[in-house]
Amino acid sequence: MRNKTTTRTKNDLRIIPLGGLGEVGRNMTLLEYKKSILIIDVGLRFPEEDMPGIDYIIPNIEYLKKRKEDVLGIVFSHGHYDHIGAFPYILSYIFKKNLKVFASPLTRGIILKRQEEFKGYPKPKITEVKNGSKINLGQFKIEFFRQNHNIPDNLGLFIETPVGNIVYTSDFKFDPHPINDLPTDFKKLKSFGERKVLLMMSDSTGAEEEGHSLSEKEILKNLEEVFRVAKGRVIAATFASLINRIQQIISISEKNKRKVCVEGYSMKTNIEIAKQLGYVNAKKTTFINSKQIKNYPDSQVTILCTGAQGEARAALMRIASKEHPFIKIQKNDTVIFSSSVIPGNERSVQVVKDEILRQGAKVFHYKMMDIHAGGHGKKEELEKMIRMIRPKFFFPVHGQYSMLISHAELAKEIGIPEKNIVLLENGQIVSVTPKEIAIEKERAASNYVMVDGLGVGDVGEIVLRDRHILATDGMFVIITIVDRQTGKVIGSPDIISRGFVYLRESKKLLKDTRKRIISIINKATGSGGAVNWSYVKDELRNKIGQFLFKATKRRPMVLSVIIEV
Ligand SMILES: [Zn+2]
Ligand SMILES: [Zn+2]
Repeated sequence: MRNKTTTRTKNDLRIIPLGGLGEVGRNMTLLEYKKSILIIDVGLRFPEEDMPGIDYIIPNIEYLKKRKEDVLGIVFSHGHYDHIGAFPYILSYIFKKNLKVFASPLTRGIILKRQEEFKGYPKPKITEVKNGSKINLGQFKIEFFRQNHNIPDNLGLFIETPVGNIVYTSDFKFDPHPINDLPTDFKKLKSFGERKVLLMMSDSTGAEEEGHSLSEKEILKNLEEVFRVAKGRVIAATFASLINRIQQIISISEKNKRKVCVEGYSMKTNIEIAKQLGYVNAKKTTFINSKQIKNYPDSQVTILCTGAQGEARAALMRIASKEHPFIKIQKNDTVIFSSSVIPGNERSVQVVKDEILRQGAKVFHYKMMDIHAGGHGKKEELEKMIRMIRPKFFFPVHGQYSMLISHAELAKEIGIPEKNIVLLENGQIVSVTPKEIAIEKERAASNYVMVDGLGVGDVGEIVLRDRHILATDGMFVIITIVDRQTGKVIGSPDIISRGFVYLRESKKLLKDTRKRIISIINKATGSGGAVNWSYVKDELRNKIGQFLFKATKRRPMVLSVIIEV
């Protein structure tokens, strides 16, 4: 699929996806009309396994930095981190007193709770919106409508703009039996279609899967079966934000007279918020803490915890690696991974799973039974959505590139002309008029912004590359003392290395390396006059680097320290 390119016209609507395309995560989209910008969702993405030390990746908001005054407001679809997680980080750039922010009650609760972790960051007022709420932001009129997902209080957006109506589906599935939520309002969706939709942006996560997603009721049945055969404790790992799954596990536990111990900070806080707002129902006596587990027989205990994605610091990992003070894996435990694996996390999940199996517990994963997230509609639902909304232009969003393609193919098959479908990468800009859709030549910056501890964006490609070198080939530090007067090396250079070769068994290599170091330095300082030490260090890095590579086929990071005495 090839899209027409264009340059900006005066009366078009621009759509600028800053994340969420070609990836599962960091959803953030801008709608721009004349000078005004509306922001939809501000999500984060969890890092891949080849990004050592990185906590999150967030959208690149270079495009917005100088446009703070033009931002009308932010609307949030639902409380998942791939839609809200980068909010505190980007607020520091776009915060202003009159910034308007809208979210459903549960989404708002989760955002507010998370902001407590960000002391000193701005805290804008967040206005609650619900199914049917209508708001005006500049030239945009937004109507919120409920959508089923695996977290309650999820809202799609119907946006009237000067060029035409836009539908943003949010993450969705059609569920006849949702948990703590009403089923999809098909009448409403059809009525949007009747009001004429110029463009639809629709969730593509399930676009490669045939059929219909499972109803939460069917997932409940599968979970019940696991609980029925479990003889000992059940340890259920899921996402802290999968409120529906959490509710199901609590309900089944209550039915089976099991107490529930919640482990993991984010899980605890989310359950607290959801309980307060009435999205999680549980008896007061159901919950116990990890110290109380020993007071109950194994068959009366459920441990509900974070870590289904193999996250290193999550509760399940601490339990599996025997670091948890009160919970250890036991032979008759049943461990459930109840969330599908996010692309990129497969290996970490495998490691935890194997560790648990090694300790003798039973493991259920979604591949064996459908107890996974299942929050995204599959082909049947996506098709039904397109048929109801009947958009003129179609823009598949939210997913890996193959998912976007599959969604675009589906739209084509059911009659949307190819020229009316846009397939984009993050940062590309779509220009929409009532007659035409095209991609502009201009692009918004979209490269990764990585969050590492408290630093935002200070870890760039170079830092990441260094971490790779350190991780794969180690480091090699040369400490040399030179005579200030003569520039000659005094004694023998010290060598410290980590993760490179075992020095005690590499005596010859070390001896040869020292010889070279001395000759490189003496040569560089030999001519007398002022010595350019940064040149000497470069020479050491390059030449010793080459020498070590020749000898070992490894490229450690070579650092040199020169001390003049
Ligand atoms: Zn979601
Ligand atoms: Zn999502």
